[in-house]
Amino acid sequence: MEKASLRQLIDDQNLLFSTNSTKEIGYRVTKLKKLKSLLKSKEEELYSAIHKDFKKSRFDTFTTELALLYLDIDEAVSKVQKWSKRKRVRTNWLNFPAKSYIYPEPLGTCLVIGAWNYPIQLSLAPVIAAIAAGNTVVLKPSEIPSGTSSIIADIVNSNFDKSFLHVVEGGVEVTTNLLALKWDKIFFTGSVNVGRIVYKAAAEYLTPVTLELGGKSPAFVTASCNLDVTVNRLVWGKFLNAGQTCIAPDYVMVESSIKDKFLEKLKNRIIEMEFSFENDNYVQIIDQKNFQRLKEMVSEDQTYFSGKLDETTRYFPPTVMSNVSFSDKVMEEEIFGPILPVLTYDNLSEAISAVKRYPKPLSCYVFTGESAVKTRIIDEISFGGGAVNDAIMHITNSNLPFGGVGNSGMGNYHGKAGFDAFTHKKSVLDKATWLDPSAKYPPYTSKKLKVIRWILGV
Ligand code: NAD
Repeated sequence: MEKASLRQLIDDQNLLFSTNSTKEIGYRVTKLKKLKSLLKSKEEELYSAIHKDFKKSRFDTFTTELALLYLDIDEAVSKVQKWSKRKRVRTNWLNFPAKSYIYPEPLGTCLVIGAWNYPIQLSLAPVIAAIAAGNTVVLKPSEIPSGTSSIIADIVNSNFDKSFLHVVEGGVEVTTNLLALKWDKIFFTGSVNVGRIVYKAAAEYLTPVTLELGGKSPAFVTASCNLDVTVNRLVWGKFLNAGQTCIAPDYVMVESSIKDKFLEKLKNRIIEMEFSFENDNYVQIIDQKNFQRLKEMVSEDQTYFSGKLDETTRYFPPTVMSNVSFSDKVMEEEIFGPILPVLTYDNLSEAISAVKRYPKPLSCYVFTGESAVKTRIIDEISFGGGAVNDAIMHITNSNLPFGGVGNSGMGNYHGKAGFDAFTHKKSVLDKATWLDPSAKYPPYTSKKLKVIRWILGV
C-alpha cells in the first residue's frame, strides 16, 4: 500500500472515530461478535494456511490461537459495558462540594503490529481489545507466515468497513510507512530491536505505545520440586511451537544436587512426547535464517540430547545442552527455538545474581516445593510475568495483565488490561455552585492562608 493510500486510510478512520459511533457499546459488541463468527466460519482456511506456513497442527492452532481469541471476545462482550462505565471516586475536602469521576475514553485510531510466531492470536488479540475499548484499528500482521497473513487480511477486509478495521499486509517498508503516520496508539509485538524503532517513531507524535517484546526467560528448578511434574511442564512449555514462544523457558537453572536425575527425566519425557511433524505436535522453524541461527547456538560437546536436524524441512529436534555456562554463545541472546541449555547452581543468591545480570526477562518460572524460595525469586528478580511450578500457562488467565518490563516491553494486555491499553482515563471533577469560598481568590491574606492550611491539614 502506497504512502498516500495509508494516509487516506488514517483520515477515513479518524473521520469515523469523530462521529462517535465506534464508542457505542452496541457497535463494539456487534463488531466483536461478527469477528468471532467470521473466525469460526473460516477455521478450515486458517488451519490450512498456518499448516502450510510452518506445519502448525489443528490442535495447536485451536488451543494456542483460536480458543484464546474466542475467549477474549466472549469476555469483552460480556464485560465491555462495565469496563466502559464512568467510575465515581472519592472527592477530597478541598473540592467540596463536588463529585469526581473517571471516564474511560477510547484513544482513537490505533495501529497494531503483529509477530509471526502465533500469527493469528498475536495479531487479533490486541485488535479485540482495541475494538472493545471503542477505537478504530489498522492491523499489520507479520509478513513471514504469508499464507496466514493473507487469510487474516481476507477475513477482515472483505467483511469490515475500511474506516473501522483494516488489515495492511507487508514487511519492513510498509511498516516503516505506517510508523511515519500519526496514530493515537501503537501496539507492537516483536523483537527488542524493532521495538526500539517503533518507540522512536512513536515519539515523533508523542503516541502512546505498548511494546510486547522478548528476552531470556529463566526457569529455576530446585531440589525440593516435584521432579516428574516439573519435567512434564518444562518439556511441554519449551517445545510447544518448537520453542518459538516469547514466554518459553529460555534456559534452566537447576540445583546441582538433582542435575543428573533432572537431565535423564528430561530426555525420557522428550522421547515419550514424540515431537514430530508426523504426530502433528511439532512445527517447523519459521525460516532458513532462523534455522541457521539456531544451529550456530549448539555446540556438539555440550549437547546432552538431540536428534537429526533436517534443513530441507526445517525440522530442528528438541535439543538439551548441559554443562552450559553464562559465557557460552547459547546464553548471549534469546534462543526462540527448541534448544534448552541447562545450567547448575549450588547457591541460590549467586544464581539470582547471575540471572539479574541479563536485561529484565519477559517471564520467569520457579519449580520448587519451598515457599521461601518462591518468594525470594519473585521478590528479587524483576520480570514481566510468570508461574510457580508451571510454564507458559499464566498467559491463559485473562485476570493476569500480560506484558514485559524493561527490555522485555512496556504496558500490558489481556482481559481488562487489554481494554485499558487502548483507553484513556479521563478524570473529571464535577463541582456544585452553591458554595464558592473566597479563600482561593486574590487578594490573598494571611487569614486566607490559615484557612487553606486548616482545610489541607498540612
Ligand atoms: P520482529 O521484530 O522481527 O517483527 C515484528 C513485526 O515488526 C513484524 O510485523 C515485522 O514486519 C515488523 N518489522 C520487522 N522489522 C522491522 C523494521 N526494521 N521496521 C519496522 N517494522 C519491522 O519480531 P518477530 O521475528 O516477528 O518475533 C520474534 C520476537 O518477538 C522475539 O523476540 C519474541 O520474544 C518477540 N515476541 C514477543 C511477544 C510478546 O507477547 N511479548 C510475543 C511474540 C513474540
